[in-house]
Amino acid sequence: MGEQKRTGPRRVGMIRRHWREWLSEDTTAPLPGYLCEQCLDAPAVVLVPAPGGGEMGLCQACQQHQAAARAEGA
Ligand SMILES: [Zn+2]
Repeated sequence: MGEQKRTGPRRVGMIRRHWREWLSEDTTAPLPGYLCEQCLDAPAVVLVPAPGGGEMGLCQACQQHQAAARAEGA
């Protein structure tokens, strides 16, 4: 009876934690179904805001390159 009530919130917490890991830019696991839109040659590991809106995938090399370029430009 009360068992189902107890497992509910626990599952939500686990999913939330999973999402936080996904949203973290430190993740290096390739995103399934995403290709780097910069070099089109490697699986994307991060999603970044696209210049034209929305988001685009970047591989780790391009993401670091872009981060460095952004730091230099700012
Ligand atoms: Zn790339």
